[in-house]
Amino acid sequence: MKITFPHLGNTYICVKALLDDLGVQYVIPPFNNKKGLELGTKYVPEMACLPLKINIGNYIQAYRQGADTILMAGGCGPCRFGYYCEMHREIMRDIGYEMDIITLEMINGNVSELFANIKKLAGGTSPLNAVIATIRMIKIAKQVDEIEMLAFKIRPREKIKGSTDDIYKDFRNKVFLEKGCRRILALISRTREELLGIDTDKSFQPLKIGIVGEIYTTIEHSSSFDIQNRLGNMGVEVDRQVTVSGWIIEHILKKAFHLPRKLEYAKEAKPYLATMIGGHAQETLGHTVLYSKKGYDGVIQIFPLSCMPEIVAESILPKVQVDFGIPVLTLIIDEMTGEAGYLTRVEAFIDLLKKRREQRNDLIIKPAF
Ligand code: SF4
Repeated sequence: MKITFPHLGNTYICVKALLDDLGVQYVIPPFNNKKGLELGTKYVPEMACLPLKINIGNYIQAYRQGADTILMAGGCGPCRFGYYCEMHREIMRDIGYEMDIITLEMINGNVSELFANIKKLAGGTSPLNAVIATIRMIKIAKQVDEIEMLAFKIRPREKIKGSTDDIYKDFRNKVFLEKGCRRILALISRTREELLGIDTDKSFQPLKIGIVGEIYTTIEHSSSFDIQNRLGNMGVEVDRQVTVSGWIIEHILKKAFHLPRKLEYAKEAKPYLATMIGGHAQETLGHTVLYSKKGYDGVIQIFPLSCMPEIVAESILPKVQVDFGIPVLTLIIDEMTGEAGYLTRVEAFIDLLKKRREQRNDLIIKPAF
């Protein structure tokens, strides 16, 4: 068995560490690039979600490097994510690439299938080792997210432009040279020290923007033209509450063990959307309210074309803007999106936020697309 898995931001770091410790062979697909997207777009129905197209591109590239089994997270709807696993299997079969799929999912809160698949993945490893490796993997997921959030804070304040990017990119590449959770945790720790050592302007008060939207396009930077890091380089501090570790801890672990979850966003979203409709629509609305209450200058919503939950959230956001007076820019992405036009809209939004801060009035911007 040679595992592969789709790229989703820094998830490859956590999965690599887990598979190293389990002694499982794997192939990490090349970082998302134009070639992979072209491959995915060629074989996936046009109206399918962009993440599905990128995932298929990842699998094709990994298959060609010897992978025979896909490891992916699953869900049970109500959006299309619920049948992603079967779609992946069928599309790969249609292409002529027969691959097994291990889906880590919990149907109706039932952990037995999740454990069965972890056991299948672990192969000959003892259950105790599998549990230890999984706990370490979760620790890595949390620390990697913390590193990213730290970079979001330091980037706009750095005195020498590019310092944060250099360290962060170096970290993402150095991970390939490290094997196992312990060594990767040590690398994370060194990277944290390097980031904290960057010379920053402590008096600078950057614009603050909250990032909301569909999980893949907000976490996988390549799918949204690296907008969050670019904002940092434009002197804007960004924040994003939807993270991989949050998804593992809040949506999988706490559900599995019936532990109380952090649902502040759902409380804030309730007057606008009281029901979970799939994806992260409730998070999008709830976090927009929370960002407004925390004094953020604006919010950017990002999602792939035809993403059902985010279209619903987008249609409700103008009401949230009016109620809380926070400007929201909506960015919709597919494989045809042009980078230049996308960035022009972001730059115009930043200019507006700067003016708004200067003037301290209550300008409300309707989402434009
Ligand atoms: S959340 Fe949106 S992009 Fe993701 S699977 Fe559901 S519909 Fe597709």
